[in-house]
Amino acid sequence: MAKKSAKKEQGGGRIGRVRCLNCFERVKVPPRADKITCPSCGWEWRISWVNPNLAKVRGPMWDRMRF
Ligand SMILES: [Zn+2]
Repeated sequence: MAKKSAKKEQGGGRIGRVRCLNCFERVKVPPRADKITCPSCGWEWRISWVNPNLAKVRGPMWDRMRF
């Protein structure tokens, strides 16, 4: 009676996903990433983690954007 199935959280639906605020594409966020690049429009976004399963976009990486 010592069986533990601890690996049941993989493949969960909306864990680690944010919406790109520029083109509204859904972007997957790797665990603990602090930034992502939108594959659709190429913008980079700062990520903060509300809790280990919930990522949020904090804002664009302005230093990387050169207009
Ligand atoms: Zn985008």
